[in-house]
Amino acid sequence: MRFDLISIFPEFFAGPLDHGIVRRAQEAGIARIHVQNLREFAKDRHHTVDDRPFGGGEGMVLKPEPLFEAVERLVGHGVGDSTNTVTPEGRTAIVLMSAAGRLFTQETARRYAELERLILICGRYEGVDERVAEHLATEEVCIGDYVLSGGELPAAIVVDAVTRLLPGAVGNEASTVNESFQRYEHTVRQIAEGLGALLDFPHYTRPADFRGWKVPEVLISGNHAEVAKWRRQKAIEKTQRNRPDLLLKGNESRTG
Ligand code: SAH
Repeated sequence: MRFDLISIFPEFFAGPLDHGIVRRAQEAGIARIHVQNLREFAKDRHHTVDDRPFGGGEGMVLKPEPLFEAVERLVGHGVGDSTNTVTPEGRTAIVLMSAAGRLFTQETARRYAELERLILICGRYEGVDERVAEHLATEEVCIGDYVLSGGELPAAIVVDAVTRLLPGAVGNEASTVNESFQRYEHTVRQIAEGLGALLDFPHYTRPADFRGWKVPEVLISGNHAEVAKWRRQKAIEKTQRNRPDLLLKGNESRTG
């Protein structure tokens, strides 16, 4: 899968995407990550990519032209309504990172992992000219209900979440199946219970007794059926305690 990150701080990504699973996925050719410096598409000699907001108010706004041109260079043709009507191929998503976007969830990550290409646009300052959301981006996503100073960290988060779902990226495939947010729709029982998604169950490792806190007995019993039952029960309890909203979502159809 190919990722293109469009940013005014291309050097930002050297650290976050250079470790662990994401690094290995790049070395193995499973993920290709290209960072595009937005300033290369600025027209003037000061490489200006932002301007004051129409209507007044604080801060600066990223201009549309450099962003449209950066994406057009990447996909190799015009994009959006006013240049021409060619939209990117179905296997490409152009995603604007935005605090005002739709919430990015594990389901979104799974959908992106099916694509061939993900182009991520990182905003800065007060945000991005709205015509980018309307005519360039195929979607606008928010990584959580808080405001950050730029789209670079959100984009790195999306790259990480998607990369670890790509076939071969995580050594043990099972480890991306049994984890938090996974929907339990494959058993009749879970549908009957209306469980939408669960958080991960608690994990323990050696020592079995740490400062007097003992590992639950069942985990060292060797009884696999009992271990599975315990893990499921603990996952439900933890979800009830920390994220009751996930359990309530059980029977809603969700778009991510
Ligand atoms: N004025 C905007 C915030 C701009 S923050 C508002 O109130 O919605 C500057 C940039 O940071 C945004 O353009 C976006 O690219 C990024 N950003 C900030 N918070 C984000 C979040 N929660 N999810 C995704 N991107 C975010």
